[in-house]
Amino acid sequence: MPELPEVETVRRQLEPALVGRSLAEVEILDHRLVQPRDRGEVAAELLGEQVVAVGRRGKYLLVRFASRRALVVHLRMTGAFLVGAATAGRSGAPGTPGERAGLARLAATPHLRALLVLDDGVEVAFRDVRRFGTWTLLEPGELRPYLAARLGPEPLGAFSAADLGARLARRQAPIKAVILDQATVAGVGNIYADEALWRSRIHPLRPAAGLSAVEVRSLHRAIRASLNAGIARQGATLRDYRAPDGSSGGMQDEFKVYGRDGEPCPRCGRVLAKSRVAGRGTHFCPRCQRPPAA
Ligand SMILES: [Zn+2]
Repeated sequence: MPELPEVETVRRQLEPALVGRSLAEVEILDHRLVQPRDRGEVAAELLGEQVVAVGRRGKYLLVRFASRRALVVHLRMTGAFLVGAATAGRSGAPGTPGERAGLARLAATPHLRALLVLDDGVEVAFRDVRRFGTWTLLEPGELRPYLAARLGPEPLGAFSAADLGARLARRQAPIKAVILDQATVAGVGNIYADEALWRSRIHPLRPAAGLSAVEVRSLHRAIRASLNAGIARQGATLRDYRAPDGSSGGMQDEFKVYGRDGEPCPRCGRVLAKSRVAGRGTHFCPRCQRPPAA
């Protein structure tokens, strides 16, 4: 499932293609993408909108329009954008669908859920195998309350160790469950939670409120470092990767602990373990990350 670094990578891919462009054609093929709204209605409202920014908050992509509406996209499990080449209409006038080889190619994408054609002829497809992804079109003024109701602070923004400490102090749940809660801090999912806990040497089952001030500061640094490493890694993948099919490069090998159970801890050499915490597969070092006292 995409987490903050992956969504930020998608944002950086979409931004140059979308900003300044208008939506010349909009097809929403899957009603689940926009439910409970009607897909034809949402497509009609999007048609002609001009993109002024592509932002991100937590794991949400925010496509902002000149009308001050915003399209909030959540990729969930398998949502992905593909940006096709402009194959016709380079002079400004979009070609008809039959004239665009690129459209034919993207329209044939398996699990295609929506297709946008920009006013420069570039096509942007949204595919989603599992169909949990969502597009929510918000009216002017609705975005801020929508996000505030769902998300805590942005971890790479104005987010201090004191902020984190205040949010943990109220919670007796395992620290991993608490940092997975998007209201604690936005954008951290299973991978970066495991990475941050390993970096800060905190066992995932420790009660959140039981962390010392030193541990909270360490975890705060570790969350930011893990996410920044993820963004750098995805960025490297992005630079090296030309095809728009979203498959990753080889950079996932850089995780310190996630997916490495059975391998030696990169810090102490002990064999890394895997268990379940908060219903999620959880990777940790049994030596570096001391379990909570019984
Ligand atoms: Zn270790």
